[in-house]
Amino acid sequence: MTEKTEKTKKAAKEPPVYSLHRAGRCYNCDLKLEPRSLVRLKAGQDEREVYCRSCAKLDDMEFLKSGNAKVTQMAKKYSQRVIVVMQWSELWKTYERIGLLVEPTAIDKIEEELNIKFENREKH
Ligand SMILES: [Zn+2]
Repeated sequence: MTEKTEKTKKAAKEPPVYSLHRAGRCYNCDLKLEPRSLVRLKAGQDEREVYCRSCAKLDDMEFLKSGNAKVTQMAKKYSQRVIVVMQWSELWKTYERIGLLVEPTAIDKIEEELNIKFENREKH
């Protein structure tokens, strides 16, 4: 794992994370992972070696579903870290982008600014 300190640099490109399409276990801590868990893959798109959110240091990030261009744009603006989330599509036999992991404070700001409430927000 390359764990650089990508603290201050805005828009530091981080590799995407993946939504598992079958159950697995974290390669590092052996945590059981349900399908649709968000994980970091070690190399490329091989699901045999996956890291859970906490091992991948993504615990403090919140998932934002794609679909609303304005929201996505704002999230990128407000969040220091933006990580693309990919999911395997059985239909297309390829990975497709399903959303972003961003900082919860960015989502707070979007809710406030657009006066909306996202459903199913993860609790922190
Ligand atoms: Zn783990």
